[in-house]
Amino acid sequence: MVLEEGFNQDFEFYFRLLKELTDGICITNANMKIIFWNESMVNNLSYSRAEAWGQPMLDLLQLRNAQNEENRFSEEDVRRIASENVVSDVFCRHREGHSVVMQVRINTYADPENQSSGFVLIFSDALVKTTIERGVKELEEIAYIDKLTELPNRRFLELEFEKHFSSYRRYHIPFGVLLLDIDHFKNVNDTYGHDNGDRVLKALGQKLLAVTRKDDVKTRWGGEEFVLLTRLSEPDKLIAFGERLRTIIEKTPVEIPDRGITINFTISVGVTLSRPEDDKNTLLKRCDEMLYKSKVEGRNRVSGVF
Ligand code: GH3
Ligand code: MG
Ligand code: MG
Repeated sequence: MVLEEGFNQDFEFYFRLLKELTDGICITNANMKIIFWNESMVNNLSYSRAEAWGQPMLDLLQLRNAQNEENRFSEEDVRRIASENVVSDVFCRHREGHSVVMQVRINTYADPENQSSGFVLIFSDALVKTTIERGVKELEEIAYIDKLTELPNRRFLELEFEKHFSSYRRYHIPFGVLLLDIDHFKNVNDTYGHDNGDRVLKALGQKLLAVTRKDDVKTRWGGEEFVLLTRLSEPDKLIAFGERLRTIIEKTPVEIPDRGITINFTISVGVTLSRPEDDKNTLLKRCDEMLYKSKVEGRNRVSGVF
């Protein structure tokens, strides 16, 4: 079919397309009330379409400039971003109250009802996306992604720490930290070879991506150690999160193709929660102490201090 043929008729096709785009699409009328909210917006901010529909966009999203968090966006800011056609890093309010960092580009369209302009806000993941868009060469230089596991790396975590500390200090949004370390990983390498060790690391990375929430930050800290940042802020929930990961990993077999077998592995976890006097190092040190506790108490367990 020639695409143009259906151009004006196949409304449903375009509607479905917008709904399923991986970018978050929020469309408002000229009064900045939300009239469209796609699946990706539901995933990013947890408001269902029904909850978002008809809401004043600025009240629901509470957009703030990520570089200058003080000021909430006004209608003027929205118009300015639209007219400048720039991509901005912004904080948006998640349904559960914490902030999510995203990039937004704003376009206007003619709203026939009001004979004036409505707005289309297109949201994408900050950082990872820009990094990817900057091209492979620059990507290697900036290198936020660990090649083996495809998880963000330590450098990315540094940025996330800054953001988490900044929203903790300004808005008192606490965050949890989990340090994961594979048990007896040296044995895996020694028994099955380095390449199969790499398979195990990869499997862990993929599993972490698959079973955590989008706004949980998961990174390969180095070697066989992984750090997660999460908005969960109650000790019980943090321990339960660690336990959930521990049990999932325990039940995740990894294929060793050259031996025709699968193997299982376990992780030990150290968990803590941000405290007012913390910096990145004190937080990680507490996690490390808890990880050590898990190791000496027999491995394949979760320990926390709050
Ligand atoms: P523990 O239960 O106390 O954590 O014991 P462990 O053997 O896991 O700990 P140890 O720190 O002694 O060993 C970590 C091993 O991880 C040693 C190192 O060679 C291996 N390793 C680090 N990075 C990589 C990698 O990228 N690929 C592979 N295959 N192995 C790696
Ligand atoms: Mg280690
Ligand atoms: Mg280890």
